[in-house]
Amino acid sequence: MNVLFVNPNSISKNYQALATKYAAIETPTWALLLAESCRSKGFKVGILDANAEGLDPKESLKKIKSINPAFICLVVYGQNVNAGTTNMIGAMELANHIKSNEPDFKIGLIGSHIQALPKETMQKEKNIDIGFINEGVYALHNLLKLSELNIENLRTIKGLILRDKAKIFFTKPEKIVPQNRMDEDLPGYAWDLLPFNKKPLDLYRSPLWHAEYQDEFRSPYAAIQTSIGCQFKCSFCMINIINKNDNEEIGVASNYSGMRFWSPEFIIKEFEKLFLLGVRTIKITDEMFLLNQKFYLPLCRLLAERNKDDLNKFWAYSRIDTVKRPEVLNIVRQAGIKWLCLGIESSNKNIRLEVSKGKFEDVDIKEIVKQIENCNINVMANYIYGLPGDTKESIEETFKVSQDLNTLGWNTYAAMALPGSQLYSEALKNNTKIPKNYSEFSFLSFDTQPLPTASLTAAQVLKLRDQKFNEYFSSEKFLNKIEKKFGKIAIDNIINMLKIKLERKIFNSK
Ligand code: SF4
Repeated sequence: MNVLFVNPNSISKNYQALATKYAAIETPTWALLLAESCRSKGFKVGILDANAEGLDPKESLKKIKSINPAFICLVVYGQNVNAGTTNMIGAMELANHIKSNEPDFKIGLIGSHIQALPKETMQKEKNIDIGFINEGVYALHNLLKLSELNIENLRTIKGLILRDKAKIFFTKPEKIVPQNRMDEDLPGYAWDLLPFNKKPLDLYRSPLWHAEYQDEFRSPYAAIQTSIGCQFKCSFCMINIINKNDNEEIGVASNYSGMRFWSPEFIIKEFEKLFLLGVRTIKITDEMFLLNQKFYLPLCRLLAERNKDDLNKFWAYSRIDTVKRPEVLNIVRQAGIKWLCLGIESSNKNIRLEVSKGKFEDVDIKEIVKQIENCNINVMANYIYGLPGDTKESIEETFKVSQDLNTLGWNTYAAMALPGSQLYSEALKNNTKIPKNYSEFSFLSFDTQPLPTASLTAAQVLKLRDQKFNEYFSSEKFLNKIEKKFGKIAIDNIINMLKIKLERKIFNSK
C-alpha cells in the first residue's frame, strides 16, 4: 500500500464523560477525500479510522504493521470543523507510539493545526517527518510518485515543511485545488474504505439533537461537503486556513477566505452512494451551505426528487441574513434538510458586527427563526460567550434572547483563541494567556482555557457557559416544545444528558 490515511482517536480527552454516548462520531471527511483523490491517480490507499473503532495507539500500531504502508498520513481535522487542534492529542500520542516502536515508518501530518502553525508544530512534534502546508492534494500526488521518501527527494515536492536533522524548512508553496478542477482532482469520497460493524457507516453517529434527540436515528451516519471554505472573515474562526497557499509561520484564516464548490451533478452522486448504503442521517458540513443559490438550489432540487418518502434527516449551516424567502426554504425542506444551524453568536449587535467582519446585515433574528420554523425546519442556534466586548450583562442578554427564541437546538461555547484564527494572532500580540496543550483548546475538555474579556476572567466566562447550558435544556418552555415536536423519548434523553457534569480545572485554579 502506498499510503494509509489515519484518523486518530482523541474523543475521550476532548469530550470527558460525554464521549461514551453523546459526542458525535463523524466520518473523516478529509481522509475520505484524499484517499479517493490518490486512488483516482492509481495509488494503493487505505484508511484507518482509530476514532470510529475506538483504537488506542497500541491497537492502531498493530493494524498499521499488518498493513505495512509505505507512508502513514495522519489527517487531523475536527468533528466540528474548528476542532483540528484538539484532535492533535490523539494524533501525537499515536505518532510517538509508532516512532518509539517502529522508527522506520514515515509519518506525515495534514490538518488545520499544522496549516496554522507549521514551524511551531514541526519543532514541537519531533516524530512527524513531513508536514503539509494546506489540504495537501497536489503535494500528496507528487510525493507518492517518489521512489523513496528521503530528504533529497522530498525537498523537490511543493507544499511541504520538512525536518533535516535539527533543521526545519519549507519547500516551495503549493496551490489548492482550483474551482475548475474540483470534480476531477477531488473526485468524491472513499466510503468503501471505512470500517463498520454490521452494516456500512454504523460506527458513526450524529449528535443527539440532529437525530431529533432519539438514538434510533443517530446511525448509520455520514458527513459530506458540497463546498470548501467560506467567503467571510470572522475573527474567531479558522475554517479558511485550509486554503493556505504560502509559507506563513503563523497563518491567519481570514487571509485565505474563499469558496470552492463541487458541481451539483457531481455531488448528488455521493449522496446517492450514501442512500444506497442505507444512510439518511447526514450532516452537510459546508461552512455556508445556504449562501450561493447557483449551487445549493439545483442540489436541493435533485435531493428533493430523491426524498419523496421524507426520510432524509439532514442539517446544514446558513447565514442568518440569507434565509428570508419562504419559497427557498420550502425547497430546502423538501430536500430533507430538517435543521438549519445558525451562527447567531451574540444578541449584541455591536459585538456581532465586530467579530463577523461584515458577515451579517443587521437582521431581525426573531423574524428569521420564525420564518424557518414556519417552513417546518428546526433551528440549531449557536452562540459564543466571551467575545471581545462581552460583559456579564451582554452574556445575560444573549441568553435571554436565546430563551425567547426557544429554538429546538442550542449550543454555546466560550470564545477560544483557536490557532489559525485572528483571535489567536491578536492574543499572541497582546500577551493574553492562551492554551499551551492541545486539550486546553477543546471547548468541552477538563483543562479548557477560553479567552477572558476586558471585564470577565476566562473562568467566569466558562462558568456562565456551563450554567446556561443546564438552564436552557432544563427550562419548561423548551422541554414542552421538544415534547410537542419529538415526543417524550426526546425529553428523557435530554434529561439523561443533563446528568453528565463536565469537570473544569479552571474553576479550581487561583
Ligand atoms: S461565516 Fe464566519 S464563522 Fe462561519 S465559516 Fe465563515 S468565517 Fe467561519
